[in-house]
Amino acid sequence: MSLFFQKANPMQHDELPHRTLPIDHDGLTLLDNVHPPAWQNPKPADSYNLVIVGAGPAGLVAARAAAALGAKVALIERNLIGGDCLNVGCVPSKAIIRTSRLYAEMRNAENFGARVPSDASADFSIAMERMRRIRAHISRGDSPRRLSAEGVDVYFGEARFAGPGAVAVDGKALRFKKALIATGARPRTPSCPGLAEAGYLTNESVFNLLERPQRLLVIGGGPLGCELAQAFCRLGSHVIIAQMKPTFLPKEERDAAQILSDALTRDGVEIHLNTEVIAVRTEGGQKIADLVSDDNKFSISVDEILTGTGRTPNVEGMNLEAAGVQYDTATGVLVNDFLQTTNARIYAAGDVCLKHKFTHTADASARIVVQNALFLGRKRLTALTIPWCTYTDPEIAHVGLYVREAREKAIPVKTFTILMHDVDRAVTDGEDEGFVKIHLREGTDRILGATVVARHAGEMINGLSLAISSGIGLRALARVIHTYPTQAEAIKMAADAYNRTRLTPTLKSLSRRWLAW
Ligand SMILES: Cc1cc2nc3c(=O)[nH]c(=O)nc-3n(C[C@H](O)[C@H](O)[C@H](O)COP(=O)(O)OP(=O)(O)OC[C@H]3O[C@@H](n4cnc5c(N)ncnc54)[C@H](O)[C@@H]3O)c2cc1C
Repeated sequence: MSLFFQKANPMQHDELPHRTLPIDHDGLTLLDNVHPPAWQNPKPADSYNLVIVGAGPAGLVAARAAAALGAKVALIERNLIGGDCLNVGCVPSKAIIRTSRLYAEMRNAENFGARVPSDASADFSIAMERMRRIRAHISRGDSPRRLSAEGVDVYFGEARFAGPGAVAVDGKALRFKKALIATGARPRTPSCPGLAEAGYLTNESVFNLLERPQRLLVIGGGPLGCELAQAFCRLGSHVIIAQMKPTFLPKEERDAAQILSDALTRDGVEIHLNTEVIAVRTEGGQKIADLVSDDNKFSISVDEILTGTGRTPNVEGMNLEAAGVQYDTATGVLVNDFLQTTNARIYAAGDVCLKHKFTHTADASARIVVQNALFLGRKRLTALTIPWCTYTDPEIAHVGLYVREAREKAIPVKTFTILMHDVDRAVTDGEDEGFVKIHLREGTDRILGATVVARHAGEMINGLSLAISSGIGLRALARVIHTYPTQAEAIKMAADAYNRTRLTPTLKSLSRRWLAW
């Protein structure tokens, strides 16, 4: 039941998410789990094996792993435990994406042999309530009480280095043998005249909305912009998306980006590619955005503007200079392949230092740090096989090399493609848009990379990541029995297609002669 709500005002990036958090039952549960109001910071140990700054996915994984292995660990968080992922990223976005998908399916019920419900209009506030409930539920795992029980000393406060071997928080000095900087990243502020004055939403404020914006301008066509543009459109907003580049998800293969463009158009998103927002102003309670597309200038009027224009690492305010840790405000803390900073006792992990800013890379890099910092490990960042996925409908997932990257490295590539409309389960599920593309080193079955565009691409890419990271070739994947009917069978179909190419004319004729005999 709602107690009261604080209005979710559009905010500036340096404001903290919980200041505008809706304080209903789930808001209180979330806060009680990830920043208990009455929390008392512990008395510091004489020295810690590992002091961690930032309790997002990277900090949490490192803290738990190190404490489980018997290390004396301190974890410092200035805002909400769980970081972006739990509070203002993966978890709330995936929760509203799920509801928005349900509405899209209800409206498309005829495609599934059902009647379209008489009222398939979305109830935004119920969708957001569900998101808050789910987030509060998941947050139970990250509570400082639970972390303390696991042997982690949890401190709330702003961490600042007080020299090369100590961090200050809440007036206390925590001495360390090793430290980990896991302070994450924040939304990059677009340099658009008038935007700050007019007010705008970022991922730090958009999940606090209580009312659906009737007209929403999304600036940026990367993963965040595309996922939320589609979700808000399906939840009933009129969404306009402006992307400076000629395609969405510019790093992905062109046909994948085209499928996404078509899907967004079908949903009713108003798409402006090659388009820049050059100014914003307010008029009569509305935000007016001036856009320029090639030579064409036009203005649109919206209720809210959501920016998704990249992420800036959190390196400021930690007194990194005192610790001898070098950083770049655009790319983050400088690390070597072992994730060691320019101070050999201090490491970094997650969004604050990585190019690939994902929860699973934050997790993987934190595991490397625990081994390298505490157990003389020599684990390398470059040895990781990193997949990623944009959770639009259809999803777009990738692992390994793109064809253009292979070409740049002069690696010859042969690609095997299976269209999802040839995969039985995709057809029965009415989810037959997309493809599985597997790139091999020509003349071998070694998988260099793969792109999957499919309803469940994020699930399907994991099998291909396993193959790449374990050195399993496409030939071996053909021998793996896949359950029928599943969409992941597309991978086996690609492997069968590869096997057919191994049948040389000589082998074919030998086989024919054998059978004739
Ligand atoms: C809308 C959105 C959706 C996303 N969806 C996905 C997804 O589906 N899948 C995926 O893999 N990734 C997703 N991501 C990315 C994912 O959230 C991040 O990659 C991940 O949270 C990074 O973890 P981290 O621990 O490095 O940093 P963060 O999660 O940013 O945590 C860093 C923590 O450090 C704290 N901190 C910073 N400075 C200090 C200081 N001086 N003192 C104390 N504490 C400090 C911060 O308050 C924060 O809690 C999404 C991101 C967004 C914005």
